[in-house]
Amino acid sequence: MNLPPRPDAFLPVLDGYVVQRVPAFRATKFYVCPDCDNTIMSGQGHVVVWPDDLVDERRHWHLHCWRVAARRGRIA
Ligand SMILES: [Zn+2]
Repeated sequence: MNLPPRPDAFLPVLDGYVVQRVPAFRATKFYVCPDCDNTIMSGQGHVVVWPDDLVDERRHWHLHCWRVAARRGRIA
């Protein structure tokens, strides 16, 4: 049975940006979150964010940091 895709209520969007989840099993490297400057550990699910059409500028964010930024309405 195929369910239609539905919006991810726990992954807020921000105008002008593309946001995708990176599930834990695909998080095979360490990243530094641009919001809090802390490490995203290998094996930790998080999100990757980039400005529309600028995928080379993608950054890896903690999910909670991204939620705060999206609620704020801008990337500080
Ligand atoms: Zn963070």
